Amino acid sequence: MHDFTYQKGILCCGDVALTKIAEEIGTPFYCYSLATIKRHIDAFEDPLKGVDHQTCFSMKANSNLALLRYMAKQGLGVDVVSGGELYKALKAGIPGNKIVYSGVGKTMQEIDSAINAGIMMFNVESEEELDVINARGSVLGKKVPISIRVNPDVDPMTHPYISTGMKKNKFGIDIETAIKQYLKASKMRNIDVVGIDCHIGSQLTDVKPFIDAIERIKLLIATLKTHDIHFKYLDLGGGLGITYLDEEPPHPKDYLHAIVEKVKELGLKLIFEPGRVIVGNAGILVTKVLYRKETRHKTFVIVDAGMNDLIRPSLYNAYHGIWPVEDQGEALEIVDIVGPICESGDFLAKDREVAKVTQGKLIAVMSAGAYGFTMSSNYNSRTKPAEVIVDQSQYAIVTKRQSYDDLSSLESVPEFI
Ligand SMILES: *Cc1c(COP(=O)(O)O)cnc(C)c1O
Repeated sequence: MHDFTYQKGILCCGDVALTKIAEEIGTPFYCYSLATIKRHIDAFEDPLKGVDHQTCFSMKANSNLALLRYMAKQGLGVDVVSGGELYKALKAGIPGNKIVYSGVGKTMQEIDSAINAGIMMFNVESEEELDVINARGSVLGKKVPISIRVNPDVDPMTHPYISTGMKKNKFGIDIETAIKQYLKASKMRNIDVVGIDCHIGSQLTDVKPFIDAIERIKLLIATLKTHDIHFKYLDLGGGLGITYLDEEPPHPKDYLHAIVEKVKELGLKLIFEPGRVIVGNAGILVTKVLYRKETRHKTFVIVDAGMNDLIRPSLYNAYHGIWPVEDQGEALEIVDIVGPICESGDFLAKDREVAKVTQGKLIAVMSAGAYGFTMSSNYNSRTKPAEVIVDQSQYAIVTKRQSYDDLSSLESVPEFI
């Protein structure tokens, strides 16, 4: 967060005033700090020096092409969950052998593209998927590397929408069934069993659930060994949380040391899939105050960004800090910051104490670098916001704001209308 600071009362990213970017491209826009991303990558990679590993950034957190190119240059791979993400990853220059592919609903076409790209492995989430991958491997004449995503049934103590490793979740294969599937997979002609995978949820603020999951995976690895099934990779997923308000997640080095300590005796190459922890606090959403509306019950600050730009508050009741872009020492007041969308759930902050902002002023919605732009939509036929990357004193628009033409470019009116 240290790259977003006030200089002479104006919020800057690096040395660039956010008011300057807003003048050039209008609002709303996402702004990412390259320095912060670099710092976060280093915080993750430094403790892993000397550990055989590959970090595969979870692309669904932020799939901006320029950011991905930067990740590629830093030696990172990616975890993809769709054919579209695979396409963008390859376009950004991520080598196929640094790509892992997760997700419960991979289509045949997506599987074929990934096989052709020579990915490191598929993280398989069901028996039927395993059958399809084997069949496609046969058609394409390839032996396809896979791991099974194991659902270890641990409670990550996070928001229910972002917990993935409990038996009630749709993700992964439970431990008992995983044994059967590994036995089956190891006999398939076009499957190469290379790894074992688990990802239990997102925004975890404690190492314990990770360690609990690892204990269970280790037992499974030992059982499979007795069946002569061995691995190259242990994929430990992502999920490390960040501070939005007052959460105190472990520092990456403490999380990584705890994990490495638990698994080093296995002698496997470790795969990590961090998303939020790399980009979450490296990005903000800048929006402009359109109106203030004071009712008898509440004060609403109506801004030009809504739930279509940043859905996390509406979807998870997530907290994002709200900072005025111009710090004018205004008194604090309690307001709802709401968007223009025709939904009562369209808010960025509720009953929040913030410095008074008036019409035309800018505010920054903090910690919006992960699951921000990637979850944006065109609801209410609103154009998606622009994305900007700042590197100290220089900046570039890396995604143009959508135009009205873009909104209807794929649509047509048939003759019978
Ligand atoms: C979403 C996801 C991640 C990344 O989660 P973060 O909480 O952003 O670190 C990693 N692996 C898989 C399989 C995911 O679905």
